[in-house]
Amino acid sequence: MIIHVNQVERHPLHLEGEEPAGVLNLREEFLRLDHPLRYRLDAESITGGILVRGALATTVTAACDRCLQTFEFEVEVEDFVYLHEDLSVSSFDLTPLMREDILLLLPQRAVCTSTCRGLCPHCGQNLNDGPCGCEVQSNDLRWGALDDLSIDPGEQE
Ligand SMILES: [Zn+2]
Ligand SMILES: [Zn+2]
Repeated sequence: MIIHVNQVERHPLHLEGEEPAGVLNLREEFLRLDHPLRYRLDAESITGGILVRGALATTVTAACDRCLQTFEFEVEVEDFVYLHEDLSVSSFDLTPLMREDILLLLPQRAVCTSTCRGLCPHCGQNLNDGPCGCEVQSNDLRWGALDDLSIDPGEQE
């Protein structure tokens, strides 16, 4: 989003709207920014430059780290602040700065809910949909392994 310095110098500017998702240009395996970047900003001329402040928000599409289901969550920058000091230029671009602030808020991993049960490691069923029946079996296997350990090697020959 281009801010024209002399326009703001004439009178404060209120900016409210959306930038297309493309400006966020994020490619991660488990996160997608495919919703617009929403902004509500005020730009004013102060001693020392152009001050821009306000709020940013967008909706993130993520794949749950545990169950792999896609879900969405909101990220919000409540106190975006930028002081543009170089008044030798006639305009400057806020988009890279807004993008940076949003990216800083993105988690390394995302979980759909804190209680997500994930996928069964044996059959791959989403355990949030209910038990799959493997649980009993895997317990049996564990006991089986203990039984093996308790066998005297001598008996096996
Ligand atoms: Zn999940
Ligand atoms: Zn299973």
